[in-house]
Amino acid sequence: MRFLICQKCLKGGLLCESCAKVVGEAGIKESEIKMMRKLGKVLKKYEFLKDVEIKRTVDSENMVIIVTDSDGASLLIGKDGGMAKKLAQDIGKHVRVVPYSSSTEEFIRNLFHNTHILGVNIVYSDGGKSYKIKVPRNEAASLPIEPEEFSRMTSSILNEKIELVFV
Ligand SMILES: [Zn+2]
Repeated sequence: MRFLICQKCLKGGLLCESCAKVVGEAGIKESEIKMMRKLGKVLKKYEFLKDVEIKRTVDSENMVIIVTDSDGASLLIGKDGGMAKKLAQDIGKHVRVVPYSSSTEEFIRNLFHNTHILGVNIVYSDGGKSYKIKVPRNEAASLPIEPEEFSRMTSSILNEKIELVFV
């Protein structure tokens, strides 16, 4: 599988010059590099995943969001979610595989495919641009992650301010 960092950097140690540049530009944090390395080790044993491109791997205490292309997403999820469950066991956290989209709104909808999103509003203020995701209040309890965690993880992936609003 391919990651944002090269195979040598995936193994460990200090990042090479070109990976350091990539990581800096994408706003990738140390914790994400750690997760990439862990995932690299886990995925190595699945030969059929060797061409999958992993774009981002952001984790919280009990969940990791893996962003990949759409072919990669179907392989990583597997039939009836079987592969994602195996990965969750290997990693020790819930795994959420999300197909990448260059559109922030589409990406958010991919991430929340089971949740009913009422709308995605873009708000401009002195602090810059932010996204407000409107979710029905009665679905708050069934969200896959806590709203604050969601905001933190998504903001980190998209380099945008994202906030959930219950209406
Ligand atoms: Zn490198």
